Formats: sequence, structure tokens, C-alpha cells
Amino acid sequence: MARFVRLSLVCLLVSGVSLALPAGAQGAKKVYISVDMEGISGVNSDNQTSATGAEYGRARKLMVEDANAAIRGAFEGGATDVLVNDSHGGQRNLLPEDLDPRARLISHSFKRHGMMEGLDSTFDAVLFVGYHAKAGSPRGVFAHTGSGVVADLQVNGLSVGEGGMNAILARWYGVPVVLVTGDDVAIEQQKATAPDVRGVIVKRAINTRAVELLPLVEARRNIQQTARDAVAGARKGRPERLSQYTVRMTFPNPNIPEVVTAFREVKLVTPTTVEFSRESMPDAYRLIRVLYRFINPD
Ligand SMILES: [Zn+2]
Repeated sequence: MARFVRLSLVCLLVSGVSLALPAGAQGAKKVYISVDMEGISGVNSDNQTSATGAEYGRARKLMVEDANAAIRGAFEGGATDVLVNDSHGGQRNLLPEDLDPRARLISHSFKRHGMMEGLDSTFDAVLFVGYHAKAGSPRGVFAHTGSGVVADLQVNGLSVGEGGMNAILARWYGVPVVLVTGDDVAIEQQKATAPDVRGVIVKRAINTRAVELLPLVEARRNIQQTARDAVAGARKGRPERLSQYTVRMTFPNPNIPEVVTAFREVKLVTPTTVEFSRESMPDAYRLIRVLYRFINPD
């Protein structure tokens, strides 16, 4: 029976009949692209990254150009399906009419998995575009983690930023993070959770505000070429699933810790630090996101 099925499959392929193959199967390459804004080429001011800022319109345009460079590179590297997740602020920055029409887009921030919404084990590669340094970095443009209310985030004892927590989630699904673009600090920090990642430095951080920007044409060309090579060379690994994910979050003051102990598993470690544990990274990720995004003391 098995031999018959195999022979039939060969005959069908030889005769040119196309078969509906499951995602990730022969010939298909699914690529996931998470796009933040602070690490985008040319962006260096908070009146660009805030939706009410005077230069926000410019920044949206810059953001979609970097995203499109990564999409072009992904398809050149063999992608057959590209999903883009808008990952900045209200997560409605990328205008679908400006995005490469071959890509699908997830838009709006009311998501369980935020910057990684829609990722699952059917994908072959993850690309981070426009990423930035973690909270507390002495250097790194717009260094922060999550909404900006986090002073430090640790997963199983490792201090991580957004790129770090997102990479740990990707590892849960066995999907390699193969590209990160942003400033030099963001690229360096990404290596702690994705040692083989290829980085494209589109700007050099002088401190947490001032930057030296790469010419835009050069930055986009580098993104496209590196995305192509990264996707072409992507190799799926085995899912990395630990039995427990222990998360510590430190806030600048006790207000959020005081409130979030309403969740029974959230324990106070110090007046400004809480800790909780979950048995899967997707579950831990959801609660991290609730704690920094959906609880606002203002
Ligand atoms: Zn961010």
C-alpha cells in the first residue's frame, strides 16, 4: 500500500499534476516578518514613532520601505509565502496599499502574542525588521522593552528585550530567527538568543537618542540582500521546549506590581519586581504582554 502510494505520487509529479501539499512541505517556504519602528532606517526621533507625532507619516513610509526590502529579499531567497506582523505601538503603522502585494499583513495591537502574532511551527524562518535595544541599555536608540513601563525583563534568568523574548518564542516553535535589522546595539543583543542570526546595521547608536544613519538606499539594499541569503540558508531546528518558563519583570515603581498580584501566580519578589512561571513559552508570552501593555496605572 505504501509503495503504491509512493509510486502514484511519483507518477503524478512526473505528469505535472500539482498536488496540494501541507505548509512547509516540498518546495514551500513560509517566512514570518515582525516589523517594529524604532530600528527602521532613518528613524531617530519620538515625534516619528508616536502615532500623534508631527513626523509620524514620514516614519510610516520609512517603515514600509524597510519591510518591503525584507519581503523582496525573502522571495528572492525562496519564500513562497510571507506573513508580515506590524509590531509597533498600536500596530497599525504599515499601510496595506504600500506593502509589497505578495505579503499578507497582520494589523492592530489587540493580540495575544503581540509582535509574534500568527507565528507557529509551519514557518521556516523568522525575520525581525526595525528592532531596538532592550530597556536599561546605556546605548541604543529608543532602548526599551515592551510598552516602556518595564525596567527589566528576565526569562529563566536571562535578561531580554523584545528581540530576546520573541526569539525564545520562535525557538518554542522550532523556527530559526535568521535576520535582525536595527541599530548596532540591537543586533549585538539579538545574538544572546539567536547566535546564528544575520544582522543588518542600518544606524549606529551614539547614545539612546543620537544616531549616525546609514544612507537609506544602502540600508535597504543591505536588508534585501541579507534577507535573501538568510532565507535561502534557513534550516528549521527542533522545537526547544523547556518544562518551565519563569519570568521576572521589574518596573520603575511599585504601582504595577501592586495591582498585578491580583493574578494568583504573580508573586512579589521586591516592591518593584514580580515573578511568575508558566509551562509553555506561548503562555508565558501572553502574560508578559498583559502585564506590560494592558495594565496602565495612568
Ligand atoms: Zn519595540
